[in-house]
Amino acid sequence: MSHPENATEFLKDQAKAKWHDETLWFVRDKRDRISKTIPEWEQLRELASQIKDNVLANLGSYLEDFERNAQKNGIIVHWAEDGEEHNRIVLEILQKQNCKAIVKSKSILTEECHLNPYLEKYGIEVVDTDLGERIVQFLNQPPSHIVLPAIHLKKGEISELFHEKLHTEKGNEDPTYLTQAARIHLREKFLGAKVAITGVNFGIAETGEFVVCTNEGNADMGVHLADVHIACMGIEKILPRRKDLGVFLRLLARSATGQPVTNYNSHFRSPSPGKEIHIILVDNGRTAQLAREKFKNSLKCIRCGACMNTCPIYRRSGGFSYGSTVPGPIGSILSPGLDMKKYSTLPFASTLCGSCSDVCPVKINIHEQLYEWRQEITKTHGEFGKGLSMKLASGIFNSPLAYKISGSLMRSALKALPDSLIYHPLNTWGKSRNLPETPKETFQQWYQKNRS
Ligand code: SF4
Repeated sequence: MSHPENATEFLKDQAKAKWHDETLWFVRDKRDRISKTIPEWEQLRELASQIKDNVLANLGSYLEDFERNAQKNGIIVHWAEDGEEHNRIVLEILQKQNCKAIVKSKSILTEECHLNPYLEKYGIEVVDTDLGERIVQFLNQPPSHIVLPAIHLKKGEISELFHEKLHTEKGNEDPTYLTQAARIHLREKFLGAKVAITGVNFGIAETGEFVVCTNEGNADMGVHLADVHIACMGIEKILPRRKDLGVFLRLLARSATGQPVTNYNSHFRSPSPGKEIHIILVDNGRTAQLAREKFKNSLKCIRCGACMNTCPIYRRSGGFSYGSTVPGPIGSILSPGLDMKKYSTLPFASTLCGSCSDVCPVKINIHEQLYEWRQEITKTHGEFGKGLSMKLASGIFNSPLAYKISGSLMRSALKALPDSLIYHPLNTWGKSRNLPETPKETFQQWYQKNRS
């Protein structure tokens, strides 16, 4: 289904759609307030953007540095060209360990590679340990937001779900009570897992270490209890030096949730005695995006979610309406690079207001890229109806006489025609909008009367 069709579904529950909009605006507002407490905020954004430009320009050599240094530290490095190879590597490690159950902390990359269903096919139980992720996993749903995976659900719905899955008290919606129940349930899973999987927020080329940021400490808990840690990292997550981290950690939490810092920023450098750390460096379309001059800087994204929280379309249409792993404005410029036809409606799911670019901590020109994708998609797949109407409009606007005659005809027609003919099924614009009242006279007529 296309974005407009999915959005129509989401908007059927008007009360919930309003609540979703307000909740995300609250997060956006928190981000605004905390960013204003940092006088050098704009310099930080600029610096982050320049560091990432440097990374993209020298990605190959930074990745080689990272691999060399990580191996020196005793980390086993794997490379995966796509999601399938990534999943195969994970499976091979698990089979070697004879592992039947794993704990996983939040990783958009493993969602992108569809790791969970892949492992489940081989009889391996995957437990997502981030609270929001566990909630959507219980519901067999993907996350609807990259930072707030269950933001589309209200307290009451979670209470009902936990009553069914974890046997909590019926009707108890107290967040502390529900979180405690999830904690008890997850603790048992943590204790039984031999292997833990995490994502990676930043890989440091200079030292071969990597950093994982969570608010719940679930990545640390999983990793410290397990014998084997598998970290899955998109190749664009590299930073040149450890000191660059200061720039990104300050921007990430503030942009994501309006917090001064993420609760746990854990550095992994080498395995403890008797344990193993594997890191899988995944391409999955990233080098193809890097080769697209107009779109390559979308790879600077640090997945903070700020562009989603501010986007008037995301807030009012929900994450599932995008049908892609990464929704919202950034998803709408990444996904067409993976499959232009499948995601052809996403770049049009924007008002092009530019708010996404304004809040982006690494200064990605998101709205400009959305506009570029529209042109690419229209060139490739065409849009017969729109092309024809644009040609017609161009003819009218190029001729004063045609403009005058058509204006006068339209004004009379709009007054005379019944609504059923004006708002016919082919008029998609009119599905959720009303035309303004037809003016009595044209601007020219008014001007001649009043100003000449
Ligand atoms: S594009 Fe920018 S604002 Fe959006 S998630 Fe990425 S870093 Fe955050």
